[in-house]
Amino acid sequence: MKANLLDFDIEGLAAFCAGMGEKPFRATQLFRWIHQRGESDFSAMTDLAKSLRDKLAVSAHIAAPVLLSQHASVDGTIKWLFDVGGGDAVEAVFIPETDRGTLCISSQAGCAVGCRFCSTGHQGFSRNLSTAEIVAQLWFAEHFLRKHLGQSTRVISNVVMMGMGEPLQNYAALVPALRVMLSDHGYGLSRRRVTVSTSGVVPMMDRLGLDCPVALAVSLHAPDDLLRNQLVPLNLKYPLAELMGACERYLAYAPRDFITFEYCMLEGVNDSVEQAQQLVDLLGRYGGGAAWCKLNLIPFNPFPASGLLCSPPQRVQAFAQVLMAAGLTTTIRKTRGQDIDAACGQLAGDVMDRTRVQERILIQRTVKLVRGPVAVAGAVL
Ligand code: SAH
Ligand code: SF4
Repeated sequence: MKANLLDFDIEGLAAFCAGMGEKPFRATQLFRWIHQRGESDFSAMTDLAKSLRDKLAVSAHIAAPVLLSQHASVDGTIKWLFDVGGGDAVEAVFIPETDRGTLCISSQAGCAVGCRFCSTGHQGFSRNLSTAEIVAQLWFAEHFLRKHLGQSTRVISNVVMMGMGEPLQNYAALVPALRVMLSDHGYGLSRRRVTVSTSGVVPMMDRLGLDCPVALAVSLHAPDDLLRNQLVPLNLKYPLAELMGACERYLAYAPRDFITFEYCMLEGVNDSVEQAQQLVDLLGRYGGGAAWCKLNLIPFNPFPASGLLCSPPQRVQAFAQVLMAAGLTTTIRKTRGQDIDAACGQLAGDVMDRTRVQERILIQRTVKLVRGPVAVAGAVL
């Protein structure tokens, strides 16, 4: 079977090349062709010896999952759905802003954590994505956007692992993927511009701190164990005291950084001013001073099966006020891409009905999709 070169970080690619009798600098050249130039055809890699290109054509390929669909929001957000085989599909979302371009990517098909308020969680777990399937979302999006914006420099400046799945439950595939993002020969993103979001897989938070201390976001959603057990079932295994301890330890690996706590605002569930005060008390017991963390309040994005409602804006404001009065940096996340179901926690809406995905895969394979023009940050795709 051919090796998929999207599966390798630069060390892995060097080892693969060494197996073919090639020196490490060849791996660097190849890596740059793939990730900086977006090239998937070995014959176009003109500064590699013809003999090497021939060997690569026999033993390797650069293969991304098949694109099933693309949706563009009126606000410039774009959502891509990729077929990862076996009836599974995963989504990636590009969110343009004036000062940055953020790509939100998936780490698993489905998710085993099963949070009450999350559409992916309701879908259940199907499988882990490979490193290649994680990296391919960035590889595809970056080079697609560059081409269609007519830009030769980087379009995606930030990556957040906030799509489908729990990244720290797919650790072995995640770390090489992060290394590709950070590599100067790959996407050259600084470690503060790559964020892993976790529901709190404590042992893997410690390992990530050691192996690859990128920015960390922790999905908190409740100020006490009783409520968090109900919203994020993983809390039964790793309760708040352990989670907070892991956050403190993480900062030792990532000096001058902070932890972002995500808090999904659910009406009548976790959004009272008393709960905001409890949250202040909880965070005050850890980390040493208000500057160790930031709060990101996420308006709940409803989906039919959840039975939950989003807190009204005044309630979100009142909640934020309590946090800010206590000196905690607090932001309220702007919801983007709602018209195309690309907002947080809405991913997988289409995937839940597997028969529909199967139908789409069939349509995709038999009919060439004709798409209308799509506006991305002012340009036309
Ligand atoms: N599994 C990881 C990363 C993916 S979810 C995690 O849970 O952190 C990314 C973020 O979206 C998390 O903070 C998650 O709690 C939030 N989220 C999930 N469903 C949501 C919904 N329906 N509305 C708003 N935010 C949601
Ligand atoms: Fe999984 Fe994160 Fe959704 Fe929870 S919020 S079910 S951990 S993807």
